[in-house]
Amino acid sequence: MVLKIFNTMGMKKEDFIPLREGEVRIYACGPTVYDFIHIGNARAFVVADTIRRYLEHRGFKVFFISNITDIDDKMIKRSQETGLSIQQLGEIFSDAYFEDIAALNIKKPDVSPRATQHIPEMIEVIRKLMEAGYAYQVDGDVYFDVSRFEDYGKLSGNKTEALEMGARIEVNPKKRNPADFALWKARKEGEPGWHSPWGEGRPGWHIECSTMAMKYLGETFDIHMGGKDLIFPHHENEIAQAEALTGKTFARYWIHNEWLTVEGQKMSKSLGNFITVKDALKICSPQVLRFFLISAHYRSPIDFNRESLKLAEANLERINSAMERLQGLRERANRTSEEENLLSEVRDARSKFEEAMDDDFNTPLAIAAIFNAVKAINSYADKNAEIEALTKREVYETVKDLMGILGINIETRREEYAEEKTTIINELINLIIDVRQEMRRRKEWKISDEIRERLQKIGLTIEDSPQGTRWKLKKIQDLNKFSKHF
Ligand code: AMP
Ligand code: ZN
Repeated sequence: MVLKIFNTMGMKKEDFIPLREGEVRIYACGPTVYDFIHIGNARAFVVADTIRRYLEHRGFKVFFISNITDIDDKMIKRSQETGLSIQQLGEIFSDAYFEDIAALNIKKPDVSPRATQHIPEMIEVIRKLMEAGYAYQVDGDVYFDVSRFEDYGKLSGNKTEALEMGARIEVNPKKRNPADFALWKARKEGEPGWHSPWGEGRPGWHIECSTMAMKYLGETFDIHMGGKDLIFPHHENEIAQAEALTGKTFARYWIHNEWLTVEGQKMSKSLGNFITVKDALKICSPQVLRFFLISAHYRSPIDFNRESLKLAEANLERINSAMERLQGLRERANRTSEEENLLSEVRDARSKFEEAMDDDFNTPLAIAAIFNAVKAINSYADKNAEIEALTKREVYETVKDLMGILGINIETRREEYAEEKTTIINELINLIIDVRQEMRRRKEWKISDEIRERLQKIGLTIEDSPQGTRWKLKKIQDLNKFSKHF
């Protein structure tokens, strides 16, 4: 089966054939580090990571770059508002971004280039564009001349004539055409600046991504990703800059994710309807959040609300508890027709999962395939207390593997759960001891002795002293034995 990708360039599904056999080179637009990322941003990053993981699963060697925008208008504005330097802001919020993506089990990009560390390369690209006649300088600003780039608009469908009409209201007498955009901006009072042939200034946002993408991935690479707001002007302008310079196709496949919405509206900082990843993780686990984010196809909107999150939680719980049921089945040596059936359902689920992901990364269908396996596991466990050992292993590993491609680690959840159980058990023991203390205070010796004896039976020793009551486990192993009762 061939993998198909919906290419925004041309707006249709195409067979995916990488530039170099067996290798995929990806650039995904990363965050602007002026604030914490919200779960709308997280959707873009989770989608990119899931695509990356699936390509790796398919055997491609993936080289994944995602930048950090640490200089732009938003960074400057926030720095002025907070009194923090651009550099301090960048450090604080890129650390927070790495923390958030790690929590969501998003693999670290192979390189996370920062715009401020690539200024000389950007200046060089701008210089070459000027030399080739694609850019012009006015009072320390440098603009890209869109009329010189014939293909302008090929990604977004926004043609220059229409843009010029639309942009008439914007009065910038420095531009030759209203649709031209800044490659370099002269430094204004109170702003940071770097030396350049055009005086002190800073790069425009679009040139940052073109330059860093070409530096790490070459003039032509396979996939460029981002949220759909980036199609225009950001990606259109990236193409113009890069292709004007090289005369070659910049990115071969363009993938754009739809919005994460709140009551039907795009989640965004400017609308104020956002919830940061950090806040979201106070009300649900990172696995639930990630599972929610991939429960819709990346080209469909997904609405964030209590019900949709609860549904994701319940669905993930169904998968996890089926896996726990499977783990709980006693192992035996021989395989029956029941196991054969289970295996064939689970193998079928794997191929349905792959078919769904091959069809433009259709995660909801892929998850439905996992549910077929879950159903088969549950109906097996309804009828059997035992399972042939190799079948058990294959079934477990298949579901674990498929969930892993979606970036959800089943074992992590089990460990967390174990930790939670231990805490609950400790609290329960303290509660029982408090009740016994109260009985002793009321001189209810019969009840308090009985509690002590029963605790002893399950391996807990109680020591009464004038300072209070302490409990101890006879042996550490006893804790494991004990926790199995819960
Ligand atoms: P920014 O830091 O604003 O440049 O955004 C980082 C990424 O998040 C970009 O790919 C955006 O397109 C994407 N993004 C922002 N808001 C949303 C949203 N509500 N839903 C999905 N993606 C979004
Ligand atoms: Zn970008």
